[in-house]
Amino acid sequence: MALSPDIMKTYGRIDIAFTHGKGSFLFSEDGSKYLDYATGIAVNAFGHSHPELIKALQDQASKLWHVSNLYKIPEQDKVANLLVKHSCTDQAFFCNSGAEATEGAVKVARRYAWSQKDTKRDEILCVTGAFHGRTLAMLAANDRPLFREGFGPKVPGFIHAEWGNIEDLKMKLNEKVAAVLIEPVQGEGGARKAPKNYLKEVQTLTKENGSLLISDEVQIGMGRSGSLFAYQNENIEPDIIALAKGLGGGFPVGAVLAKSEVGNAMVPGTHGSTFGGNPLAMRAAEVVINLITKNGFLEGLNEKIKYLNDKIDSLIIDEKNSFNNKNTILFVKGKGHGFLRGIELSDKISAGDFSTIARQKGLLLVGAAENTIRILPPLNTSFEEIDLAFFKLKEICQELHKKND
Ligand code: PLP
Repeated sequence: MALSPDIMKTYGRIDIAFTHGKGSFLFSEDGSKYLDYATGIAVNAFGHSHPELIKALQDQASKLWHVSNLYKIPEQDKVANLLVKHSCTDQAFFCNSGAEATEGAVKVARRYAWSQKDTKRDEILCVTGAFHGRTLAMLAANDRPLFREGFGPKVPGFIHAEWGNIEDLKMKLNEKVAAVLIEPVQGEGGARKAPKNYLKEVQTLTKENGSLLISDEVQIGMGRSGSLFAYQNENIEPDIIALAKGLGGGFPVGAVLAKSEVGNAMVPGTHGSTFGGNPLAMRAAEVVINLITKNGFLEGLNEKIKYLNDKIDSLIIDEKNSFNNKNTILFVKGKGHGFLRGIELSDKISAGDFSTIARQKGLLLVGAAENTIRILPPLNTSFEEIDLAFFKLKEICQELHKKND
Protein backbone atom coordinates (compact mmCIF):
# COMPACT_ATOMS: atom_id res chain seq x y z
CA MET A 1 0.00 0.00 0.00
CA ALA A 2 1.40 3.42 -0.96
CA LEU A 3 2.00 6.21 1.52
CA SER A 4 -0.98 8.54 1.85
CA PRO A 5 -0.76 11.96 0.15
CA ASP A 6 -3.11 13.20 2.87
CA ILE A 7 -0.31 13.13 5.44
CA MET A 8 2.00 16.15 5.64
CA LYS A 9 5.44 14.96 4.60
CA THR A 10 7.33 15.81 7.79
CA TYR A 11 8.72 12.26 7.96
CA GLY A 12 10.49 10.19 5.33
CA ARG A 13 8.18 7.31 6.15
CA ILE A 14 8.94 3.64 5.66
CA ASP A 15 6.15 1.83 3.84
CA ILE A 16 5.40 -0.71 6.56
CA ALA A 17 2.23 -0.66 8.66
CA PHE A 18 2.27 -2.58 11.91
CA THR A 19 -0.94 -4.23 13.00
CA HIS A 20 -0.02 -5.34 16.49
CA GLY A 21 2.79 -5.88 18.93
CA LYS A 22 3.60 -8.31 21.71
CA GLY A 23 6.49 -7.83 24.12
CA SER A 24 9.60 -6.94 22.13
CA PHE A 25 8.05 -7.84 18.76
CA LEU A 26 6.00 -5.98 16.17
CA PHE A 27 3.93 -7.61 13.43
CA SER A 28 3.13 -5.97 10.11
CA GLU A 29 0.22 -6.18 7.67
CA ASP A 30 2.02 -8.72 5.49
CA GLY A 31 2.60 -11.03 8.45
CA SER A 32 6.30 -10.16 9.00
CA LYS A 33 7.70 -10.20 12.53
CA TYR A 34 10.22 -7.64 13.77
CA LEU A 35 12.36 -7.50 16.90
CA ASP A 36 11.60 -3.94 17.98
CA TYR A 37 14.85 -2.49 19.30
CA ALA A 38 13.72 0.97 18.19
CA THR A 39 10.75 1.05 20.61
CA GLY A 40 9.12 3.99 18.83
CA ILE A 41 12.35 5.93 19.55
CA ALA A 42 12.69 5.00 23.23
CA VAL A 43 8.97 5.17 23.99
CA ASN A 44 7.71 1.60 24.48
CA ALA A 45 9.57 1.15 27.78
CA PHE A 46 7.82 -2.17 28.41
CA GLY A 47 7.45 -3.27 24.82
CA HIS A 48 4.02 -3.81 23.33
CA SER A 49 0.74 -4.93 24.90
CA HIS A 50 2.07 -5.12 28.43
CA PRO A 51 -0.78 -6.71 30.43
CA GLU A 52 -0.56 -4.25 33.33
CA LEU A 53 -0.66 -1.24 31.01
CA ILE A 54 -3.63 -2.69 29.12
CA LYS A 55 -5.46 -3.41 32.36
CA ALA A 56 -4.90 0.06 33.80
CA LEU A 57 -5.90 1.82 30.56
CA GLN A 58 -8.98 -0.33 30.03
CA ASP A 59 -10.07 0.25 33.60
CA GLN A 60 -9.58 4.03 33.33
CA ALA A 61 -11.10 4.20 29.84
CA SER A 62 -14.33 2.77 31.21
CA LYS A 63 -14.45 5.40 33.99
CA LEU A 64 -13.02 8.78 33.04
CA TRP A 65 -10.78 9.96 30.19
CA HIS A 66 -10.34 13.67 30.58
CA VAL A 67 -10.98 16.42 33.06
CA SER A 68 -9.50 19.88 32.99
CA ASN A 69 -6.55 20.84 35.14
CA LEU A 70 -8.97 23.35 36.65
CA TYR A 71 -9.95 20.42 38.91
CA LYS A 72 -8.13 18.15 41.28
CA ILE A 73 -6.99 15.00 39.44
CA PRO A 74 -6.17 12.27 42.00
CA GLU A 75 -4.44 10.10 39.35
CA GLN A 76 -2.06 13.03 38.77
CA ASP A 77 -1.38 13.43 42.47
CA LYS A 78 -0.36 9.78 42.62
CA VAL A 79 2.10 9.99 39.72
CA ALA A 80 3.55 13.29 40.95
CA ASN A 81 4.03 11.71 44.35
CA LEU A 82 5.87 8.73 42.85
CA LEU A 83 8.14 10.93 40.72
CA VAL A 84 8.92 13.21 43.65
CA LYS A 85 9.50 10.28 46.02
CA HIS A 86 12.01 8.67 43.69
CA SER A 87 13.84 11.84 42.58
CA CYS A 88 15.63 14.88 44.01
CA THR A 89 12.70 17.10 42.98
CA ASP A 90 9.56 18.20 44.82
CA GLN A 91 6.96 19.12 42.20
CA ALA A 92 5.67 17.93 38.83
CA PHE A 93 3.91 19.61 35.91
CA PHE A 94 2.40 17.27 33.33
CA CYS A 95 2.31 17.78 29.58
CA ASN A 96 2.10 15.57 26.52
CA SER A 97 5.48 15.40 24.80
CA GLY A 98 9.22 15.85 25.13
CA ALA A 99 9.36 19.27 23.50
CA GLU A 100 6.66 20.52 25.85
CA ALA A 101 8.66 19.17 28.78
CA THR A 102 11.94 20.84 27.73
CA GLU A 103 10.19 24.07 26.80
CA GLY A 104 8.33 23.98 30.14
CA ALA A 105 11.62 23.37 31.93
CA VAL A 106 13.11 26.47 30.28
CA LYS A 107 10.08 28.52 31.29
CA VAL A 108 10.42 27.39 34.91
CA ALA A 109 14.15 28.27 34.93
CA ARG A 110 13.59 31.74 33.48
CA ARG A 111 10.64 32.43 35.72
CA TYR A 112 12.70 31.43 38.76
CA ALA A 113 15.42 33.93 37.84
CA TRP A 114 12.73 36.57 37.26
CA SER A 115 11.12 35.79 40.63
CA GLN A 116 14.54 36.35 42.27
CA LYS A 117 14.57 39.85 40.67
CA ASP A 118 17.41 38.57 38.51
CA THR A 119 15.67 39.83 35.40
CA LYS A 120 18.77 39.90 33.18
CA ARG A 121 19.31 36.18 33.71
CA ASP A 122 17.35 34.72 30.83
CA GLU A 123 19.86 32.85 28.69
CA ILE A 124 19.89 29.07 28.39
CA LEU A 125 23.27 27.47 27.86
CA CYS A 126 23.01 24.32 25.74
CA VAL A 127 25.69 22.11 24.21
CA THR A 128 26.71 21.00 20.76
CA GLY A 129 24.96 17.89 19.49
CA ALA A 130 21.91 18.67 21.63
CA PHE A 131 18.37 17.79 20.65
CA HIS A 132 15.51 19.07 22.78
CA GLY A 133 12.50 19.03 20.45
CA ARG A 134 10.81 20.88 17.61
CA THR A 135 8.99 23.86 19.08
CA LEU A 136 10.32 27.22 17.92
CA ALA A 137 12.24 27.78 21.15
CA MET A 138 13.65 24.27 21.21
CA LEU A 139 14.83 24.71 17.61
CA ALA A 140 17.09 27.40 19.05
CA ALA A 141 18.20 25.11 21.90
CA ASN A 142 19.09 22.33 19.45
CA ASP A 143 22.42 22.23 17.72
CA ARG A 144 20.84 21.65 14.30
CA PRO A 145 20.80 24.84 12.19
CA LEU A 146 19.17 22.88 9.35
CA PHE A 147 16.09 22.21 11.47
CA ARG A 148 15.58 25.99 11.77
CA GLU A 149 15.79 26.66 8.05
CA GLY A 150 12.69 28.38 6.73
CA PHE A 151 11.10 28.89 10.14
CA GLY A 152 11.80 32.57 10.59
CA PRO A 153 14.03 34.25 13.13
CA LYS A 154 15.87 32.11 15.64
CA VAL A 155 14.37 32.49 19.11
CA PRO A 156 16.91 34.49 21.13
CA GLY A 157 18.33 33.48 24.49
CA PHE A 158 19.99 30.15 23.62
CA ILE A 159 23.76 29.76 23.43
CA HIS A 160 25.98 26.70 23.05
CA ALA A 161 29.14 25.31 24.57
CA GLU A 162 31.07 22.38 23.18
CA TRP A 163 29.75 19.04 24.48
CA GLY A 164 32.13 17.51 27.01
CA ASN A 165 34.43 20.56 27.09
CA ILE A 166 34.23 21.94 30.62
CA GLU A 167 36.54 24.88 29.88
CA ASP A 168 34.27 26.05 27.06
CA LEU A 169 31.24 25.78 29.32
CA LYS A 170 33.04 27.72 32.04
CA MET A 171 33.83 30.47 29.56
CA LYS A 172 30.20 30.76 28.47
CA LEU A 173 28.65 30.72 31.93
CA ASN A 174 28.02 34.27 33.05
CA GLU A 175 25.49 36.33 35.01
CA LYS A 176 23.06 36.14 32.08
CA VAL A 177 22.73 32.36 32.16
CA ALA A 178 19.52 31.21 33.86
CA ALA A 179 20.20 27.52 33.31
CA VAL A 180 22.30 24.92 31.61
CA LEU A 181 20.09 22.55 29.60
CA ILE A 182 21.73 19.20 28.93
CA GLU A 183 21.00 15.55 28.09
CA PRO A 184 23.05 13.24 30.35
CA VAL A 185 23.26 10.93 27.34
CA GLN A 186 22.59 12.50 23.95
CA GLY A 187 20.18 10.46 21.86
CA GLU A 188 19.68 12.14 18.49
CA GLY A 189 23.21 13.60 18.78
CA GLY A 190 24.64 10.10 18.25
CA ALA A 191 24.12 8.12 21.48
CA ARG A 192 26.80 10.09 23.32
CA LYS A 193 27.32 9.61 27.04
CA ALA A 194 28.73 12.58 28.91
CA PRO A 195 32.44 12.12 29.68
CA LYS A 196 33.30 10.97 33.21
CA ASN A 197 32.78 13.72 35.83
CA TYR A 198 31.64 16.21 33.18
CA LEU A 199 28.11 16.56 34.55
CA LYS A 200 29.40 16.82 38.11
CA GLU A 201 31.67 19.67 37.05
CA VAL A 202 28.80 21.27 35.11
CA GLN A 203 26.68 21.19 38.25
CA THR A 204 29.45 22.72 40.39
CA LEU A 205 29.98 25.52 37.87
CA THR A 206 26.27 26.27 37.46
CA LYS A 207 25.88 26.50 41.24
CA GLU A 208 28.88 28.82 41.56
CA ASN A 209 27.38 30.96 38.81
CA GLY A 210 23.90 31.09 40.35
CA SER A 211 22.43 29.22 37.38
CA LEU A 212 20.15 26.18 37.41
CA LEU A 213 20.77 22.77 35.92
CA ILE A 214 18.10 21.19 33.71
CA SER A 215 18.52 17.51 32.96
CA ASP A 216 16.76 16.61 29.71
CA GLU A 217 15.88 12.99 30.40
CA VAL A 218 13.20 12.75 27.74
CA GLN A 219 15.07 9.92 26.01
CA ILE A 220 17.48 8.54 28.64
CA GLY A 221 15.15 8.87 31.65
CA MET A 222 12.65 6.34 33.03
CA GLY A 223 15.00 3.42 33.54
CA ARG A 224 16.83 3.53 30.21
CA SER A 225 20.10 4.48 31.93
CA GLY A 226 19.86 1.59 34.40
CA SER A 227 18.58 3.92 37.13
CA LEU A 228 15.10 5.45 37.21
CA PHE A 229 16.66 8.83 36.32
CA ALA A 230 19.93 9.22 34.44
CA TYR A 231 21.22 11.97 36.76
CA GLN A 232 21.32 9.35 39.52
CA ASN A 233 24.33 7.73 37.82
CA GLU A 234 26.27 10.98 37.90
CA ASN A 235 26.24 12.01 41.55
CA ILE A 236 24.42 15.24 40.74
CA GLU A 237 21.06 16.79 41.60
CA PRO A 238 19.47 18.78 38.80
CA ASP A 239 17.09 21.59 39.72
CA ILE A 240 14.72 20.68 36.91
CA ILE A 241 14.14 17.45 34.96
CA ALA A 242 12.30 17.04 31.65
CA LEU A 243 10.63 13.67 31.01
CA ALA A 244 8.47 12.13 28.28
CA LYS A 245 8.88 9.15 25.89
CA GLY A 246 9.15 6.10 28.22
CA LEU A 247 7.11 7.76 30.99
CA GLY A 248 3.81 6.66 29.45
CA GLY A 249 5.13 3.44 27.92
CA GLY A 250 3.51 4.52 24.63
CA PHE A 251 0.76 6.76 25.96
CA PRO A 252 1.66 10.42 25.24
CA VAL A 253 2.77 12.04 28.48
CA GLY A 254 5.56 14.38 29.50
CA ALA A 255 6.57 15.99 32.76
CA VAL A 256 8.61 18.84 34.16
CA LEU A 257 9.95 18.07 37.63
CA ALA A 258 11.44 20.81 39.79
CA LYS A 259 12.82 21.45 43.22
CA SER A 260 10.22 23.40 45.21
CA GLU A 261 12.26 26.59 45.50
CA VAL A 262 12.40 26.74 41.72
CA GLY A 263 8.94 25.36 40.96
CA ASN A 264 7.32 27.84 43.34
CA ALA A 265 8.08 30.56 40.80
CA MET A 266 5.21 29.10 38.76
CA VAL A 267 1.87 30.44 39.97
CA PRO A 268 -1.64 30.09 38.48
CA GLY A 269 -1.71 31.47 34.96
CA THR A 270 2.02 31.17 34.22
CA HIS A 271 1.80 27.86 32.37
CA GLY A 272 -0.71 25.21 31.42
CA SER A 273 -1.79 22.35 29.22
CA THR A 274 -5.32 21.34 28.29
CA PHE A 275 -4.54 17.64 28.01
CA GLY A 276 -1.48 17.42 30.26
CA GLY A 277 -1.80 14.84 33.02
CA ASN A 278 -5.24 13.55 32.14
CA PRO A 279 -6.41 10.43 34.02
CA LEU A 280 -5.67 8.04 31.13
CA ALA A 281 -2.09 9.30 30.74
CA MET A 282 -1.57 9.19 34.47
CA ARG A 283 -2.72 5.59 34.82
CA ALA A 284 -0.18 4.59 32.14
CA ALA A 285 2.61 6.55 33.83
CA GLU A 286 1.76 5.08 37.22
CA VAL A 287 2.14 1.54 35.85
CA VAL A 288 5.46 2.38 34.17
CA ILE A 289 6.95 3.94 37.32
CA ASN A 290 5.74 1.04 39.48
CA LEU A 291 7.20 -1.52 37.09
CA ILE A 292 10.59 0.19 37.04
CA THR A 293 10.76 0.71 40.80
CA LYS A 294 9.50 -2.77 41.66
CA ASN A 295 11.91 -4.68 43.89
CA GLY A 296 14.71 -6.20 41.85
CA PHE A 297 13.67 -4.77 38.46
CA LEU A 298 16.57 -2.33 38.07
CA GLU A 299 19.05 -4.99 39.25
CA GLY A 300 17.78 -7.35 36.53
CA LEU A 301 17.87 -4.55 33.97
CA ASN A 302 21.48 -3.77 34.85
CA GLU A 303 22.44 -7.39 34.22
CA LYS A 304 20.92 -7.13 30.76
CA ILE A 305 22.64 -3.78 30.19
CA LYS A 306 25.98 -5.41 31.04
CA TYR A 307 25.19 -8.31 28.71
CA LEU A 308 24.40 -5.90 25.87
CA ASN A 309 27.49 -3.89 26.68
CA ASP A 310 29.77 -6.94 26.51
CA LYS A 311 28.21 -7.94 23.20
CA ILE A 312 28.85 -4.49 21.71
CA ASP A 313 32.42 -4.42 23.07
CA SER A 314 33.13 -7.79 21.54
CA LEU A 315 32.27 -6.68 18.06
CA ILE A 316 34.09 -3.37 17.80
CA ILE A 317 37.29 -3.30 15.74
CA ASP A 318 38.27 -6.88 16.29
CA GLU A 319 39.82 -8.14 13.12
CA LYS A 320 39.20 -11.71 14.15
CA ASN A 321 35.44 -11.52 14.53
CA SER A 322 32.94 -11.44 11.76
CA PHE A 323 31.72 -7.89 12.27
CA ASN A 324 34.92 -6.23 11.20
CA ASN A 325 37.62 -7.76 9.07
CA LYS A 326 40.94 -6.46 7.80
CA ASN A 327 39.52 -5.06 4.60
CA THR A 328 36.22 -3.75 5.76
CA ILE A 329 35.76 -2.16 9.10
CA LEU A 330 32.03 -1.66 9.56
CA PHE A 331 31.72 -0.90 13.26
CA VAL A 332 33.94 1.87 14.55
CA LYS A 333 32.87 2.56 18.10
CA GLY A 334 30.38 1.46 20.75
CA LYS A 335 28.58 4.45 22.23
CA GLY A 336 25.87 5.53 24.64
CA HIS A 337 24.84 4.07 27.92
CA GLY A 338 22.36 1.61 29.40
CA PHE A 339 19.64 0.79 26.90
CA LEU A 340 20.38 3.89 24.83
CA ARG A 341 23.25 2.33 22.95
CA GLY A 342 24.80 3.16 19.65
CA ILE A 343 27.32 1.78 17.23
CA GLU A 344 29.16 4.24 15.05
CA LEU A 345 29.56 2.89 11.54
CA SER A 346 32.49 3.41 9.23
CA ASP A 347 32.20 5.25 5.92
CA LYS A 348 31.54 1.88 4.25
CA ILE A 349 27.84 2.18 5.06
CA SER A 350 25.40 4.83 6.23
CA ALA A 351 23.31 4.37 9.36
CA GLY A 352 20.22 4.74 7.16
CA ASP A 353 21.27 1.93 4.80
CA PHE A 354 22.32 -0.27 7.70
CA SER A 355 18.93 0.23 9.40
CA THR A 356 17.18 -0.66 6.13
CA ILE A 357 19.10 -3.93 5.84
CA ALA A 358 18.45 -4.66 9.54
CA ARG A 359 14.74 -4.09 8.98
CA GLN A 360 14.77 -6.50 6.05
CA LYS A 361 16.23 -9.04 8.48
CA GLY A 362 13.47 -8.32 10.99
CA LEU A 363 15.41 -6.04 13.36
CA LEU A 364 14.26 -2.47 14.01
CA LEU A 365 16.95 0.08 14.87
CA VAL A 366 17.09 3.89 14.64
CA GLY A 367 19.74 6.10 13.11
CA ALA A 368 21.36 9.05 14.89
CA ALA A 369 23.99 11.70 14.17
CA GLU A 370 27.65 10.67 13.67
CA ASN A 371 26.59 7.80 11.37
CA THR A 372 25.37 5.90 14.41
CA ILE A 373 22.76 3.17 14.67
CA ARG A 374 20.85 3.33 17.91
CA ILE A 375 19.84 0.21 19.85
CA LEU A 376 16.91 1.00 22.15
CA PRO A 377 15.53 -2.26 23.56
CA PRO A 378 12.46 -2.29 25.76
CA LEU A 379 13.51 -2.39 29.43
CA ASN A 380 11.89 -5.81 29.84
CA THR A 381 13.61 -7.47 26.90
CA SER A 382 15.16 -10.91 27.53
CA PHE A 383 18.75 -12.18 27.22
CA GLU A 384 17.52 -14.41 24.38
CA GLU A 385 16.19 -11.39 22.50
CA ILE A 386 19.53 -9.61 22.92
CA ASP A 387 21.18 -12.72 21.46
CA LEU A 388 18.71 -12.65 18.58
CA ALA A 389 19.53 -8.99 17.84
CA PHE A 390 23.24 -9.78 17.70
CA PHE A 391 22.65 -12.87 15.58
CA LYS A 392 20.89 -10.61 13.08
CA LEU A 393 23.66 -7.99 13.26
CA LYS A 394 26.20 -10.70 12.54
CA GLU A 395 24.23 -11.91 9.53
CA ILE A 396 24.10 -8.37 8.15
CA CYS A 397 27.83 -7.88 8.58
CA GLN A 398 28.66 -11.17 6.93
CA GLU A 399 26.56 -10.20 3.93
CA LEU A 400 28.12 -6.76 3.72
CA HIS A 401 31.59 -8.27 3.90
CA LYS A 402 30.75 -10.60 1.06
CA LYS A 403 29.71 -7.61 -1.02
CA ASN A 404 32.73 -5.47 -0.09
CA ASP A 405 35.58 -8.00 -0.05
N1 PLP B 1 14.50 15.88 24.35
C1 PLP B 1 15.16 14.78 23.96
C2 PLP B 1 16.42 14.40 24.66
C3 PLP B 1 14.69 13.99 22.91
O1 PLP B 1 15.37 12.92 22.53
C4 PLP B 1 13.49 14.39 22.27
C5 PLP B 1 12.96 13.61 21.13
O2 PLP B 1 13.63 12.83 20.51
C6 PLP B 1 12.82 15.53 22.72
C7 PLP B 1 13.35 16.25 23.76
C8 PLP B 1 11.53 15.96 22.06
O3 PLP B 1 10.54 15.04 22.34
P1 PLP B 1 9.17 15.02 21.51
O4 PLP B 1 9.48 14.48 20.17
O5 PLP B 1 8.28 14.12 22.31
O6 PLP B 1 8.66 16.41 21.47
